[in-house]
Amino acid sequence: MCGICGCSDTVTTDRPETHAHHHHDHDHAHHHGHTHGPEHAHAAGLSTARMVQVEQDIMSTNQRHADANRRQFAEHGIFVVNLVSSPGSGKTSLLVKTIEAMKDEMPLAVIEGDQQTEFDAERIRAAGVPSWQINTGKACHLDAHTVGHALEHLPPLDDGILFIENVGNLVCPAGFDLGEAHKVVILSVTEGEDKPLKYPHMFNAADLMLVNKIDLLPYISCDMARILAGARQVNPRIESLPVSATTGEGLEAWLAWLRNGREQMRGGHMETMLSRRDALERELAAIDARIGK
Ligand code: MG
Repeated sequence: MCGICGCSDTVTTDRPETHAHHHHDHDHAHHHGHTHGPEHAHAAGLSTARMVQVEQDIMSTNQRHADANRRQFAEHGIFVVNLVSSPGSGKTSLLVKTIEAMKDEMPLAVIEGDQQTEFDAERIRAAGVPSWQINTGKACHLDAHTVGHALEHLPPLDDGILFIENVGNLVCPAGFDLGEAHKVVILSVTEGEDKPLKYPHMFNAADLMLVNKIDLLPYISCDMARILAGARQVNPRIESLPVSATTGEGLEAWLAWLRNGREQMRGGHMETMLSRRDALERELAAIDARIGK
C-alpha cells in the first residue's frame, strides 16, 4: 500500500537521501546512497526486504494506536465513522448536511484530514460543531497516532458521534485502522461504475457505501446497479444507500444508520458502566467488611 505509492511513511525512515523522482536512465552504480533491492523496489535507499520490514513496523505501530483509540472510544461511548472516498465525492457537503440535521440530538465533532488547507474544518465549524484539521503534507491518509492526538483538541464527546473525514484517496486510507467503528466509503455517480472493482481494497474495508450526487442521474449515464454489483463482488456484506447532499434525498436513511450505530455504542457503554459500578460496589463491600464496618 504505502510502500507502493511512496507516501510519507517510508519517506520518513532513516535513509540517507530521498529521490522523489526516480529515473532509470542513469547508470546503476548508485554512488548517492540509493540502492535497489533485487525486485527494483522503488523506495530510495531501501532494499525490498527492508521495505517489507518497514511496512510491517508501520502497520503494527498503527494497529497499536488504533486499538488504544478504540478503547478510548468505547470507554466514552463515542460512535466513530471514518469517511473515505476520492477527492470531490462530496464528503464535506454530506457532513455539513448530517451535522445540521443531528447537532441538537447529541455531541458531534469532526476530525478533518487533508494534505493542505483548513478549508474543510472551517466549513464544519460554520455548520456549528467543533472540528480539528490535520494537514498530512505529503501523506495520502490519516494514521491512528495522529487521530489520537487530534482528540486532545476536541471537547468531550461522550455518547456522541465523531466523524473522521479522511484524505481524499481511494487507495491508502483502506489499510489504516484509526480505531473507528466503521469505514464508510462515498462514491459519487460521476466517478464511474467501475470504481469498486478498480479499488477493491477500499470497498472491501467499508461496511457502508454511500452513492452520492444522485440528483445528477438524469444528466449523466450511470448504471447504479453496476456500482452495487461491483461493490458486492468485492465485499458481499457491504450495505449501500443512495444519497444527495444537495437535495437531501436519501439522507434520512443515512441518519437512521448513524443513529442506530450510536445507540448500539451507547448500549455497550451503559453496560460497561453498570458492570464497573457493580465491581466497585463489591470492592467497597469487601473493604467495609475488612475494616469491620
Ligand atoms: Mg472534504
